[in-house]
Amino acid sequence: MGYLERGVATVVLKELVSGMALTLGYMFRQKVTLNYPYEKGPLSPRFRGEHALRRYPNGEERCIACKLCEAVCPAQAITIEAEPRADDSRRTTRYDIDMVKCIYCGLCEESCPVDAIVEGPNFEFATESREEMLYNKVKLLSNGDRWETEIAERLRADAPYR
Ligand code: SF4
Ligand code: SF4
Repeated sequence: MGYLERGVATVVLKELVSGMALTLGYMFRQKVTLNYPYEKGPLSPRFRGEHALRRYPNGEERCIACKLCEAVCPAQAITIEAEPRADDSRRTTRYDIDMVKCIYCGLCEESCPVDAIVEGPNFEFATESREEMLYNKVKLLSNGDRWETEIAERLRADAPYR
């Protein structure tokens, strides 16, 4: 660009005008940003978020304490203790997940024969201390109660591909 052209471009504010035109063009395009946390993007049915233990519709725990999830967990994040109930059904007395160790691989969910342990859609479970990331059975069951509708829908959507 010669001196003359550069001079004209400077006088007519060419770069400023082209920058403003670009900005103006983007103002009328579809927004790619979301007003998080008030708006959230879509989640895949296979999204692997916070863990939950599910119940049957009658309120009974699904988990039968087979310990497959504990055995398969590559991070050894799951700890289960179990003993038979009075009616001889086998249930856990302890079900802990160290969410700091967990690598969210989903193998616990894959291995569970009764769809008891699942990874739900919740990704907003950051804490201020490590202790809060040590989940026990009460916490996991309450997660299941809270997210059951979304989890059941997710499992239904994913079922044809499993
Ligand atoms: S998601 Fe993977 S690492 Fe986390 S508890 Fe389940 S099996 Fe273990
Ligand atoms: S959550 Fe599933 S895989 Fe794990 S012990 Fe219970 S029934 Fe077995």
